[in-house]
Amino acid sequence: MKKAIVEGVSAIVKESLDLIENAFIRIDDGYFTEVRENPSNSSRYLKYKAKGMLMIPGLINAHTHIGDSFFKDYGIGKSLNDLFRPITGLKHKLLASAPENLIIKSMRNSVFDMLRCGITTFADFREGGKRGIMIIKKAMRGLKMKAVILGRPDYYFDEDDVVKNHAMPEDKIREVNEMLKICDGIGLSGPNEYTDKAMNEISKLTKSKKKICAIHACEDKYSMGFSLKNFHKSEVERTLKNLDPDFIVHLTQAKEEDIELISKANIPIICCPRANSILGLGFPPITKMMKKGITIALGTDNVMLNSPDLFREMDYTSRILRALERDPSAVSSKDIFKMATINSAKALKLGKEIGTIEEGKRADAVFIRTNTKNLESIKDPINAIVHRVRPDDIQAVMINGEIVYGILPTLT
Ligand SMILES: [Zn+2]
Repeated sequence: MKKAIVEGVSAIVKESLDLIENAFIRIDDGYFTEVRENPSNSSRYLKYKAKGMLMIPGLINAHTHIGDSFFKDYGIGKSLNDLFRPITGLKHKLLASAPENLIIKSMRNSVFDMLRCGITTFADFREGGKRGIMIIKKAMRGLKMKAVILGRPDYYFDEDDVVKNHAMPEDKIREVNEMLKICDGIGLSGPNEYTDKAMNEISKLTKSKKKICAIHACEDKYSMGFSLKNFHKSEVERTLKNLDPDFIVHLTQAKEEDIELISKANIPIICCPRANSILGLGFPPITKMMKKGITIALGTDNVMLNSPDLFREMDYTSRILRALERDPSAVSSKDIFKMATINSAKALKLGKEIGTIEEGKRADAVFIRTNTKNLESIKDPINAIVHRVRPDDIQAVMINGEIVYGILPTLT
């Protein structure tokens, strides 16, 4: 849709998440061009009827592994190592024996499911080198949803070799080079699977192409202990020094010193509280990191363990944080909502393009019916978004100014 107007809607706008009750939103060529309170000139525009609905920015899932969508809820009760350890973990065995068309079909269904949950952009850690990137591209074929694809070389140093500080084999560095031509950056499994030299090489290559460089770290006690024992440095310290990433995923086990280092380096952290919880790993120190000014974003992590539903992730994160702190004001619903929108956009270096409803940004939005049995009588929209809204309350999802899910009635 080239030109469209949304009139009379209640909209959550700008980074401050202000509520405009009778909003007038103009969209030109996929971008918001006017966001204001009162109606303006709108001749020659398609007009959407959205009175009584709540319009929020499209949600951004900052961390997924949709490649593991074909064996949902298998292995719950097992440890992180048993399930995900590169090469020997259960998921790698299952992946090795799965037909490619089943993997692609399950990935595509997870993308549809995210759209149904109001997600308009997601960032996926993609395994399997160049072939892995081609698989997600096949799964995304023809879809309007935005995928930030972070690939990784199909090579891991084992525990004995990682301390020897060998370089990456030359053919694998060439593979990284080739991958960077077709994806948005690199997302590594963890610092304990890469030597200092390898991390330096990957970082240099990624940055030279102006792509994203990211990694998991500090997820479980074992990997923290391994790093201290073998490198006399925490995973965070080693990662910052050698990879200099654009963001880090997890930080579940972060100590005060790690938080200090992250704060000084000004690096966003992607937290996945439901994934950490089901694996029995604890809860990331989100309030401590926020107090140090660190940008926190949310991801739903592995589809094997979690539905890729950010409404669930926001609700869970908010409730557990307040419970852990024994303080109902430990975090605000606005803070939590930002973790699923603008903070994710910033972490993915898309803060100028998406994440809020405001002029100049891409027109990605979710329209929520507020007259459903679930939502009638809500008095505070942001509290409701974080704690009560469900995917079945969504009327329509807009990406680049086009309705891509559901129906938004128009004035004829
Ligand atoms: Zn992950």
